[in-house]
Amino acid sequence: MRAIFDTGRSKELFESAKSCLVGGLASSLHKGEYEEYPIYIECGKGSRLYDVDGNEYIDYVGGFGPMILGYCPETIKDAVIGQMSRGSQFAAPYELLNEVSKKLVDIIPCADLVSYQSTGTEANMLGFRLARAYTGKDKIVKFEGHYHGWSDEELVSFGADSLRMMGPRKRPWKTMGSAGQREKALEDIIVLPWNDLEAIEDTIGRRGHEIAAIVTEPVMCNCDPIFPKSGYLKGLRELTEQNDIVLIFDEVITGFRLGLAGAQGYYKVTPDLCSFGKAVAGGFQLAGVAGKSEIMESDVHPVGTFNANPIAIAACGATISELQRPGIYEHMTGLTRRLSEGIREICLRRDIGAYCNSAGSICGFALGVRERMNDYRDTLKVNRIDYQRLRRACLDRGIRLHPTRGRLYLSAAHTNGDVDRTLMVVEEALTKIVKR
Ligand code: PMP
Repeated sequence: MRAIFDTGRSKELFESAKSCLVGGLASSLHKGEYEEYPIYIECGKGSRLYDVDGNEYIDYVGGFGPMILGYCPETIKDAVIGQMSRGSQFAAPYELLNEVSKKLVDIIPCADLVSYQSTGTEANMLGFRLARAYTGKDKIVKFEGHYHGWSDEELVSFGADSLRMMGPRKRPWKTMGSAGQREKALEDIIVLPWNDLEAIEDTIGRRGHEIAAIVTEPVMCNCDPIFPKSGYLKGLRELTEQNDIVLIFDEVITGFRLGLAGAQGYYKVTPDLCSFGKAVAGGFQLAGVAGKSEIMESDVHPVGTFNANPIAIAACGATISELQRPGIYEHMTGLTRRLSEGIREICLRRDIGAYCNSAGSICGFALGVRERMNDYRDTLKVNRIDYQRLRRACLDRGIRLHPTRGRLYLSAAHTNGDVDRTLMVVEEALTKIVKR
């Protein structure tokens, strides 16, 4: 196993960033929880990132999800450079926009029409507004622990770290995510536990006449990945259909990762609307909403200077074409499963408690729990300290994992060799770190 890396230049750059960036960072997630400084990246190619000290990492953070084709894929590079030579922003439509939008309508099961925004946060804000305009109702049901963005209405009951903060399971308290968030904005948000159809039925029974939409991550990816119980998404579909409630799948992570048709294709449940982002443009800033025309055509006018920015749309077109190549999902899914099963097997062999799973190109593992997790509260049992130790040990040996949770994104550029090396490093690190 390689020696621990020297990262002195990253340390210097972080010290210098403190004089111009809040906390020295552009995002609090750019640095791991217990780290003194983040790793500064020089460049990326394929499945690898290279830092400013010349160290190489097999990367599983995937830019937080977008890098489904890996770093600097030639096809995206060519499309983006080609578009650059024609112009990067028009404030007017252009032919490629029609072409790419038609592709998305073909691919996304719920899509009669699509509408673009730049970030997942905005896409979900648009989804909420469309649902309210269409139904004439105000309340939005969201689930404990699900993340839909950082606006006042979205950042609710996300990331609590103790049961004391959460209230009764069936009627959770609404917790705010940030200083400066308006408590009043939470008035129209109802929070429920996930994977619990009874809780939904009970709430719809009492308040269905007020509820415009139910929004859900179809696989709960913003913690240690949690999968829907069999029949749960279908049950949500039936209950919303019967009660004039718009069902929104937040596919910002699952879109294009669980398959070309996202979670709605994977689970064969079609929502009324879905938000998408991240992987849709392979590393460029594009997000949006897709859905049924009668809802999409409500009197809502999504504006935004950079909506359908030509560079992002060119990157999206190239990403989708690449993802439509035969065999690409088999490759990603196969590798991801191998990694997940490999980690499970290591943990079993070493008698380390862990819950491992995967879907599409998302691999999840949680240390310290052995049984299936069903909702956010189950993740409070996960051993975060061991995860941080593991992450640190892996980083020091050239494997880059997610800064807070055991969620790994693979790409079309990852190889069997990457997975072999990762499993070797993870096994050695786990054996040293985890108490049984
Ligand atoms: N929804 C989900 C499921 C997400 O994971 C995220 C981002 N992690 C968002 C919405 C918000 O997307 P963005 O960061 O692009 O605003």
